[in-house]
Amino acid sequence: ATSAAAPAAPAVERTLVLVKPDGVRRGLVGEVLRRLEAKGYTLVALDLRVPDAELLRAHYAEHEGKPFFGPLVEFMGSGPVAAVVVEGQRVIEAFRAMAGATDPTAAAPGTIRGDLGRDWGTAATQNIVHGSDSPASAQREIALWFPHL
Ligand code: UDP
Repeated sequence: ATSAAAPAAPAVERTLVLVKPDGVRRGLVGEVLRRLEAKGYTLVALDLRVPDAELLRAHYAEHEGKPFFGPLVEFMGSGPVAAVVVEGQRVIEAFRAMAGATDPTAAAPGTIRGDLGRDWGTAATQNIVHGSDSPASAQREIALWFPHL
């Protein structure tokens, strides 16, 4: 009897992680990178910069028109952001789980937002990190932040 073919190994993915200005101001870049490295993912690009409004509007294009869009773009441009491209099998799904729910007050303990975040009077806007939500988003966002990759 012939056995079924082995299931295909999951493809190596890349995701875009941002440590937002609140995370950088609070000294949490190292903690976010530590968690990614401790879980076994590979850092493939790292950059610290104050993003301009054009980049931020493109990055958050899906939220244009929502009431939080203007405040979000303003907050994201309020200081340096650490942009990181991270690689590994299923890293997109993994980092979403590591980040936790959007609202840091509600995010589960054990997650970055749940362990380190809170409401500072801006509801869910200041929530420490961003992580791409799908392979298509990751590809689009990495091209925006790291056009040479
Ligand atoms: N955000 C906000 N108010 C909301 C929802 C989202 O300020 O009611 C901000 C928050 O910083 C969030 C970002 O907009 O991280 C993008 O929203 P999304 O729903 O994509 O959340 P995420 O994927 O980052 O958890």
